[in-house]
Amino acid sequence: MDYESIEYNRYRWNRMLLNGFWCILIITILLEGMYLTITKEPFLAFITNYMLEPTILQLSLLLIAETAFRVLKGKYQDYIIILTSALLAFIIVYIHNSINYLLLALFLPVMVSVFYFHPKKLIFALCNTMISLYVMYWTNDWMNEDITLVGLSTITVMFLSFSLIAWGILRRGRELMIYLKSYYESNQQLLVKTVWMDKLTKTDALTDLYNHMTFHEYFEELIKQHEDNDLPLQLAIFDIDNFKKVNDLFGHRAGDAVLQRVSELIRSKVSAHDFVARYGGEEFAILFTEKAKLEAFNLVEQIRLEVSQAPHELQQGRPVTVSVGFAEYESGEGKEHFFNRADQALYKAKNMGKNQTVIASGTLESQLA
Ligand code: GH3
Ligand code: MG
Ligand code: MG
Repeated sequence: MDYESIEYNRYRWNRMLLNGFWCILIITILLEGMYLTITKEPFLAFITNYMLEPTILQLSLLLIAETAFRVLKGKYQDYIIILTSALLAFIIVYIHNSINYLLLALFLPVMVSVFYFHPKKLIFALCNTMISLYVMYWTNDWMNEDITLVGLSTITVMFLSFSLIAWGILRRGRELMIYLKSYYESNQQLLVKTVWMDKLTKTDALTDLYNHMTFHEYFEELIKQHEDNDLPLQLAIFDIDNFKKVNDLFGHRAGDAVLQRVSELIRSKVSAHDFVARYGGEEFAILFTEKAKLEAFNLVEQIRLEVSQAPHELQQGRPVTVSVGFAEYESGEGKEHFFNRADQALYKAKNMGKNQTVIASGTLESQLA
């Protein structure tokens, strides 16, 4: 999970907690309404003491909390939520001091702090709870009459014990988080490894172009697609002329450098829709998928010309030339036939003196002838 989504979740959870506090306000009003029907206290006094006063206090508190929630960002929002829960619980318990089991509500901030899985926030919440308890005890006459110091100590120990359990939950959560993180990371590593392995099996190490096997896989796939949709598809097979001489005269390293330079040149000319592969030792194949026949042919010629003009450092600045067999797919002819036509055109180009492109068949051949 990335940082942004964690931040977004923090906002979402805090919003939910704030909504929960609004629900508490509504529930207390409803409960007071129910008590109103059975209370022996004078009607007006009850309305003022148990309905109006607490409602105004809680409402003001929640409005301040809503404002702070909008103004403050990040971790400060969390502290505002914890503080709001402490004050909300304090108001409820203080107003209803005759119901001593309501004291448990003072533990609310600690429960809220568990949402954040953060020890500092748990300690902050516990401080809120303890301060509320002791302020309540020393300022509320009824409470210190009704609850002895031993009772107060018991409640303190109880709150501390519960907080210890909350801390345990936090530790457990952290443990799970670390486990999930390492699991996620190892999964990521595996994915990177798989992608890397995939690239290794699909490409040629010297030129970084697709290899022979990938060419055939893709070739078959493209023919299927183009048969179905009746789209143009052209194949150009490039073969470096007299390449054996490059190796013989300047060494294998110079030959490798020529192969790399020619691949770069071809790659720089084709578009993202075209597919380039190192078909064999000094042979390259391009599949043009989104071009008209003439456009693809012109591009092949441009590549051929540029290759013939590009100097190669390791063979004393001399260029190399390429011969090309070019063919456009004819519906229904199939992979083998299509490839053979381009290959025969290449053979013809070699026989006709090299450094030229021969178009396998079709109307364009006669147009260009
Ligand atoms: P042609 O004009 O008829 O194509 O002649 P050619 O010499 O280019 O063709 P031939 O098939 O006789 O020789 C190809 C050479 O390419 C032979 C081989 O040693 C060389 N070769 C194949 N792969 C590599 C490679 O990866 N690096 C280097 N340096 N040479 C390679
Ligand atoms: Mg060859
Ligand atoms: Mg050759």
